[in-house]
Amino acid sequence: MKLSAAQLRERAAEARTHYARCDLCAHDCRVDRTRGPAGVCHEDDGLWLAGAGVHFGEEPGLVPSGLVLIGGCNLACVYCETFEFSLERRGLVRTSPEELAALLLDLSRRGARNANFVTPTHVLPALLAGLAVAREHGFALPVVWNCGGYESAAALRLLEGIVDIYLPDAKYGDDAKALELSGCKGYTTALRESLREMVRQVGPGGVIVRHLVLPGGVAAPEAVMLLVAAVSKQITINVLSQYRPVHRAAHFPLITRGAGPSEVRTAVAAAVSAGLENVLLDGRRIEASGPKPEA
Ligand code: SF4
Repeated sequence: MKLSAAQLRERAAEARTHYARCDLCAHDCRVDRTRGPAGVCHEDDGLWLAGAGVHFGEEPGLVPSGLVLIGGCNLACVYCETFEFSLERRGLVRTSPEELAALLLDLSRRGARNANFVTPTHVLPALLAGLAVAREHGFALPVVWNCGGYESAAALRLLEGIVDIYLPDAKYGDDAKALELSGCKGYTTALRESLREMVRQVGPGGVIVRHLVLPGGVAAPEAVMLLVAAVSKQITINVLSQYRPVHRAAHFPLITRGAGPSEVRTAVAAAVSAGLENVLLDGRRIEASGPKPEA
């Protein structure tokens, strides 16, 4: 994080103006969230948290990571692993900038290497307000933006000089499937433009993309990998094999089972053949000799 506390306060104030005509993600709803929940995400201008803690399950270079779990989401994936707090908003606690700052400072004291905001884009202004307060009290950890890959250029520009590591999903290489399974139009265009802006800000070494393999090639991994590689072959791609049919997935015949080993292998091979130089499988680097998905 390069900005001073004063600069962060200015940026937070600028960001806050976006709530009145919200363009904080690629849905580009242009609704006024200061009057109450609105837009596709149905969020107001407050910050609701599901929890926070020091976590060891992230990519190797990020752990121990100071996770901040944010309620609500700008996407609506039918197979969302965190649907209780991301979509159904269960167990959330309204959190002021001062409370967020105290939480960030506590994560820092507990040995976190970074502040890792999970599903952050729809509450970007509130997060910057909390970061500004934390910065005034000496907070200096790198900031990780752990998002869905459906950001807007306006939102990402507000993060320049603040975010050190972008950790977006690359969910789909097929817009029709993105609309059907995550309720978002034009996903691949938003993803491509988001990745370009992220790389412009922090370089390809500061971008780690996650791709969750869906069964039956539904997420179009070959197209995903080509899209990422066309932005930069030096972006790190982490292929995730953990898909399970949770939330509403049982209603969508294509995704009612986990992804098989051969489907995971196909996604990894697509990343390699697209020329991506830094390929991980479930967080472990792929070398010529492995690791390989279980047969
Ligand atoms: S964050 Fe995205 S989904 Fe929510 S109101 Fe703003 S543009 Fe719409």
